[in-house]
Amino acid sequence: MIIDFQAVKRLVSMGDVLALLGWSALQAQKGELRGRCPIHRSKSAKSRSFACNDRGFTCFSCGEHGDQVRLWALCRGLTLYNAAVDLCRELAVSVPELPKRRSPAPPAAQGTEKRNGFNAAVPGDGSPICAESADEEEVDHD
Ligand SMILES: [Zn+2]
Repeated sequence: MIIDFQAVKRLVSMGDVLALLGWSALQAQKGELRGRCPIHRSKSAKSRSFACNDRGFTCFSCGEHGDQVRLWALCRGLTLYNAAVDLCRELAVSVPELPKRRSPAPPAAQGTEKRNGFNAAVPGDGSPICAESADEEEVDHD
């Protein structure tokens, strides 16, 4: 299965992920939320090193940044793939998949024809020439 990550990000908002993490902002400013980092788990209750908005997050302390799927992956110790699947399950939406592409053009460089032609050109059969070997059989009769 190929996950449509763009569709996952449309289905699962940053707000959804933050809610699932039980994260709450300590500060909201210009559409940006700040608070404790759920990834490196800020020790200070007043930490505002973690900043996020609808499009992504950045932590000014541990340096992690990315989108909501990556945030879930980092907090839950998952791969991005599993994080996307997990988020869809948490929010009870079906995992969006990319259709398998039927590409009209075959993959490039088959190369088999060339090789067959080359193999056919192998020279010589190596069989011994023995047409005159019968001469040895001539024995003088006395
Ligand atoms: Zn952090």
